[in-house]
Amino acid sequence: GSTIGILGGGQLGRMLSVAASRLGYLTHIYEPGAAPAGQVAHALTQAPYADEAALRAFAADVDVITFEFENVPATALDLLAETVPIRPGLDALAVSQDRLTEKTFLQGLGLATAPFRDVPDLPMLQAALEELGTPAILKTRRLGYDGKGQVRIVDPAEAADAYAAMAGTDAILEGFVAFEREVSVIAARGLSGEVVCFDPGENVHQGGILRTTTIPAELSPALRTDAALLAGRILNALDYVGVLGVELFVTPAGLLVNEIAPRVHNSGHWTQAGCAVDQFEQHIRAVAGLPLGDGKRHVDVVMENLIGDDMDRLPELLAAPDTQIHLYGKAETRPGRKMGHVNRIRR
Ligand code: ATP
Ligand code: MG
Ligand code: MG
Repeated sequence: GSTIGILGGGQLGRMLSVAASRLGYLTHIYEPGAAPAGQVAHALTQAPYADEAALRAFAADVDVITFEFENVPATALDLLAETVPIRPGLDALAVSQDRLTEKTFLQGLGLATAPFRDVPDLPMLQAALEELGTPAILKTRRLGYDGKGQVRIVDPAEAADAYAAMAGTDAILEGFVAFEREVSVIAARGLSGEVVCFDPGENVHQGGILRTTTIPAELSPALRTDAALLAGRILNALDYVGVLGVELFVTPAGLLVNEIAPRVHNSGHWTQAGCAVDQFEQHIRAVAGLPLGDGKRHVDVVMENLIGDDMDRLPELLAAPDTQIHLYGKAETRPGRKMGHVNRIRR
């Protein structure tokens, strides 16, 4: 096929579209929101995921469909999947749309996660707090990102307030992990089943939002191998096609999986400056059925997100040496909003 459909018109969809263009493909972006981050697609449809006619027209226009975010409603996916392959597949989406399903799946693979409990009501939350202790984190099962939809509980007496803050949304309680550092591994699986990993990066968050990713991560050779092996296990179990982001906690007992993202990932943006084939091209290659790039890193990189007012630093960043700048073309700057990122090359 020669036209790739992308669900979602944010910065990830935009960068996927650029990568697809470089490989000679046409792209068509489906964006249900009011204002896409910046239009680079050869075609753009703005219609809600409930609009069956628009979805069918989109499916008729493309040869394969991928997505930039995992929360596409299942009804829309089922409809699209009737006529066009969706890569990665619906299994990967179903697993990662819900933290309860996701953590259950990961533990089923024999991978370690934070201890967790399903907490459908307040008494269950109180019981879970007894079992897991404090501090603990109450998280919405669905739709959370950038730390939104999470409440930290320091004292069991805060249970009722924390539960009320979820406003009736299904939630899980996670035991607090006293991690040494956070790393992530960006991995890919091709249509013929080959698996390729990029080097793990070390992530620093601020206010729940990714601030920087530093490559290479400070990680023992054994944990570096573990990271790649566990990513491969997840990819194979899901019969996955495309790029997957795996967020990990490094603890004295080894690696814990925090969450997986069935798509290109913010902590993989460094590959744009560090690898011949970056995560966006890697994803497009997988989805299009091409052989994957080798994932090799040729320089050290620090990726920094440009969030909200960080944009004021643009003149200085533009003047900095060894600095690759990516701007998402968002019309409006807001606090906490990702406006772009920079990749600083360290030789
Ligand atoms: P993302 O934008 O990465 O999708 P999210 O809203 O899904 O974020 P998480 O990744 O679950 O949220 O959590 C955000 C951050 O909060 C983590 O990267 C980590 O720093 C911290 N955190 C989350 N869960 C735990 C935990 N169980 N113990 C300690 N810290 C945690
Ligand atoms: Mg998440
Ligand atoms: Mg996360």
